[in-house]
Amino acid sequence: MLKEAYEQSYLYRLRHSAAHLMAQAVTELYPGAKLSIGPPIENGFYYDIDFPQPIREEDLEKIEKRMKELSQLDQKINRIEVSRDEAETLILDKSIPSMGTDVAEYKLELLDAIPEGETISFYDQQRTDREGKYHRFLDLCRGPHVDATKEIKHFKLMSLAGAYWRGDVRNKQLTRIYGTAFESKEGLEHYLHVLEEAKKRDHRILGRELHLYMFSPRVGTGLPLWLPKGAVLREVLTDTMKAEQLKRGYEPVVTPHIANIKLYEKSGHILTFREKMFPFMEDEEKETHILKPMNCPFHIEIYQSQMRSYRDLPIRYAEFGTVYRYEQSGEVAGILRARGFTQDDAHLFVRPDQLQDEFIGVVDLMKTVLEKLGLHEYRARLGTKDPASDKYVGHDDNWIASTQAIENACQAMGMDYEISVGDAAFYGPKLDLMIKDALGREWQMGTVQVDYNLPERFELEYIGEDSKPHRPIMIHRAPFGSLERMIGLLTEQYAGAFPFWLSPVQFAILPIADRHNEAAFSLAADLRSRLFDTRPFRVTVDDRRETLGKKIRENQMQKVPYMLILGDRDIESGTVGVRSREDGDLGAMTVAELLDRLG
Ligand SMILES: [Zn+2]
Ligand SMILES: [Zn+2]
Repeated sequence: MLKEAYEQSYLYRLRHSAAHLMAQAVTELYPGAKLSIGPPIENGFYYDIDFPQPIREEDLEKIEKRMKELSQLDQKINRIEVSRDEAETLILDKSIPSMGTDVAEYKLELLDAIPEGETISFYDQQRTDREGKYHRFLDLCRGPHVDATKEIKHFKLMSLAGAYWRGDVRNKQLTRIYGTAFESKEGLEHYLHVLEEAKKRDHRILGRELHLYMFSPRVGTGLPLWLPKGAVLREVLTDTMKAEQLKRGYEPVVTPHIANIKLYEKSGHILTFREKMFPFMEDEEKETHILKPMNCPFHIEIYQSQMRSYRDLPIRYAEFGTVYRYEQSGEVAGILRARGFTQDDAHLFVRPDQLQDEFIGVVDLMKTVLEKLGLHEYRARLGTKDPASDKYVGHDDNWIASTQAIENACQAMGMDYEISVGDAAFYGPKLDLMIKDALGREWQMGTVQVDYNLPERFELEYIGEDSKPHRPIMIHRAPFGSLERMIGLLTEQYAGAFPFWLSPVQFAILPIADRHNEAAFSLAADLRSRLFDTRPFRVTVDDRRETLGKKIRENQMQKVPYMLILGDRDIESGTVGVRSREDGDLGAMTVAELLDRLG
């Protein structure tokens, strides 16, 4: 669901009401607990609470149980609108359990923050119990909410976290309780199932277990080391993209990892991107160099190294360029947000009359590669300029023309897209692909950007048919986004069991005893001498002195597509015992029969 639609939805109100219900349960169970804020969020809700004594995960069950009881009682949820004075009186009213000076200090601060003239509202949950005793839960809140607590049936409290009041570390740390709520039992169960599945597929855990990559504090924050199996994955992905690009007339270029800062002054990145750049390096000649945060200016230099004619265009320079961005250490998150990563980058220099076709070509390339990777579900998002913001550069005419070109291209391709105002790059509009994974979660991956600005800053030219100089348009594109991100997504998509063509190890040969090792190594050599998808087969020999059972288990855990078991009888008859990751024991086969199976 789109964010705006979600915020208008019943589900959003339901979750907000579930947050209030939880706050009601907390005020009853933990006298003295002070409530602060409790909004609905993407997958549920939270409430930040200042508890008199710290609570633990075990408390969640108790709170949830009380919520269940409260939800079944006959409690309407009423909105009351009041003046500022009345609001203050209510907040200070000790007779209401969630209010009064002892517990409502945060609410008082929130009231102060409501701008003059804005409506002040409370949400009120009242009931009378069987003994005729009157109960009330009141919360200062903008709403909206559902009509009665009875509507909140399918919920679960998920976890505890610390959260500073108003997100400021100088303030007191409060306890955040996360929960979720759904309209139906099935909805809740599906969500919990997906979470469970997601845990099993977590690329951070699988990345470690499958020996794909590692981090070391001695190397530095956010700087991954790619282990042999991860490096193979990168190579296969890179080869796939490179082959597709060569087919489509791209040309490879290679550029350095550092550059003189003047290059980035010229490009304007120094103004717009400085906070993401590593500290500068000054050499003995007082020249300042920086680690490259982007490849674009290098490719522009190459374009500019020659006089270009209209007949030379389009020019498509591609590079798997490693860039360095100084993410705050708190924001570094494994390979998805690293300080060094490799973009499957390319820059296209095109004439205005080529823009639409080239844009279509780029999107077609993206679709082809995604299909090959088994990623069939995606949607496009067109990021446009926010007219109210001043962070963008370039003339309005160019913005209008480039946005129009993207829209025309999408329409020509019959591709649906949604518009996201304010999501453009600072130099031009862009089209992002949001890919849905096997669990239905969305990943923002590839991007295509149309840029009139850098050609202008660098005064790029080509000589037109009229013998006069003209300005080309640039397209920036990175279908994967980064290799790191794509590997994270693929790891979760396949739960580490990559398709055969992508698997870091395709065959694990398991000799049963030492006397079978020689045959095992010669089988490995034989397989490695053959090509599959233009690359030699990837083979390991597990010659450890372990039982066959243990070797099978461990190679299964490594999600190797085929295990080839070698014993006396196999060597005699010239076969191997084949065990497939998906189908288990396939019996004895000759190598020729095995390779036939792969097609
Ligand atoms: Zn609220
Ligand atoms: Zn670029």
